Amino acid sequence: MAYTYDDQNIFAKILRGEVPNATVLETEHSLAFHDISEQAPAHVLVIPKGAYVTYDHFATQASDAEIIDFTHAVGQVCQMTSISPDRGGGYRMISNAGPDGVQEVPHMHVHILGGRMLGRMLGRMQ
Ligand code: 5GP
Repeated sequence: MAYTYDDQNIFAKILRGEVPNATVLETEHSLAFHDISEQAPAHVLVIPKGAYVTYDHFATQASDAEIIDFTHAVGQVCQMTSISPDRGGGYRMISNAGPDGVQEVPHMHVHILGGRMLGRMLGRMQ
């Protein structure tokens, strides 16, 4: 089933400049900004400017230029926020997708979290 993009989602509004954001980095195809409800000292969202719903949508439909730009943006954010393990810290990158992934905003994004011990990735299966 093909993805349908809802251009009224909050990240689409941020990209159109209708909703403010605390920008960390803007590139040709990507935008990184602080999550409004931070769950770690560093909690940055990285989104493509294109209309993609989930990571798999982006990874299968985006152009090479968009994917390369996005990957570079993630790397730059890790360096800019000083959470890269090459400085002794660490981070977790999460991309929630769909109902089981508990995705709140239907515009593809990754969370980059760091600046504290993040604990185990998931609780154990019951
Ligand atoms: P997810 O879709 O992966 O569950 O998470 C969406 C994230 O977007 C949440 O962590 C939430 O705090 C963040 N968020 C929702 N609305 C806004 C907003 O208007 N501005 C910013 N900067 N973040 C938002």
